[in-house]
Amino acid sequence: MTPAMATTKPPGIAPSPALDYRIRRSSRAKRTRIVVRADRIEIVAPPDVCEQRIHAFVQAQQAWISAARLRISQRAVPSRSLAPVSYSDGSLLPYRGGHLRLALVDASRKTVAIEQGDDHLRLHVPKAVESHRRSDIIRHALEHWMKHQARRYADEMIARHAPRCGLHPRSLRIKTQKSRWGSCGPNDDINLNWLLMLAPAIVMEYVVVHELCHIRHKNHSRDFWALVSQHMPDYLQHRHWLKQHGASIMRGL
Ligand SMILES: [Zn+2]
Repeated sequence: MTPAMATTKPPGIAPSPALDYRIRRSSRAKRTRIVVRADRIEIVAPPDVCEQRIHAFVQAQQAWISAARLRISQRAVPSRSLAPVSYSDGSLLPYRGGHLRLALVDASRKTVAIEQGDDHLRLHVPKAVESHRRSDIIRHALEHWMKHQARRYADEMIARHAPRCGLHPRSLRIKTQKSRWGSCGPNDDINLNWLLMLAPAIVMEYVVVHELCHIRHKNHSRDFWALVSQHMPDYLQHRHWLKQHGASIMRGL
């Protein structure tokens, strides 16, 4: 939605020096409108509107422009992958909002084994693996491990929240999804994206709560959000976190 220009007499206000914008004349424009983009502000105006009126209009819409710019800057967090460039000794693995350092040990085994420490993961990597395949095999093993962790934590979260309002899922599946965090089917089967293990634990808990609440309300109605907030009064902030950082996490390991 863009604000429309009022047809009043032009007030004599000089353009704001802080606001940098460019005026584009368009014969197709029926009224003056403001287009806010990440890198510029453009004022699209019909050919016959005088510049002074345009400046006054922009001046009057400063609050709206600031709000639009803020919205855009919040959306425009670049989605860099959280994953390390390669999986080698000392690499940092994103995990539950923090990191685990990888410690690699050569082992005479056929598959990668993973042991969890406080702030690290010890990986026993088969000696026989050729060096160019190492990083990929480790990444694969870590993904597998993450899915296990996701199930463990999701089970815990469900056990904590489900009994409160009788929101018991029929099943839980941990999935790899590129566009959603979770879902709740018509028969209360819940799917959860394991990539949530890269986000802070509370954010994953929000998604679990969100899907549990769909057991009662198969929609995003007011009642639905009221139920979510009963379980998690500060859920908005976790929802916001996902909106801001979700794209980075979706890029996976
Ligand atoms: Zn939903």
